[in-house]
Amino acid sequence: MCKPTVISREGDICVTHCVNCKIVNVWNRSVLMTFSVEQFHAFINATRQLEFDDYIEYHPDGTEIVVLASPFPDISLCFTRVEWHEFFSALSQAAYMQQIYKMVHH
Ligand SMILES: [Zn+2]
Repeated sequence: MCKPTVISREGDICVTHCVNCKIVNVWNRSVLMTFSVEQFHAFINATRQLEFDDYIEYHPDGTEIVVLASPFPDISLCFTRVEWHEFFSALSQAAYMQQIYKMVHH
């Protein structure tokens, strides 16, 4: 049975995982990203060192944004500075919580 647990929440971002399916969902208002546990950690490792200021582009409305290729073909993720902070802070909290769960379940 699927029993998703909230493992972190930051602003509009919420990360849940299900220990039975071994999947991680990253939710925001309009996007739901689904990862296997391995994909999730690979994504965190690949994005860990990225600095918002190094990748600034401009949204058509003039807002400073960073566009990140997603693990999904033809879908890119677009972040304002605040969203960027919330997203990666939620992800690193989620990774930390998964370490805790791992210790508890072994
Ligand atoms: Zn499940």
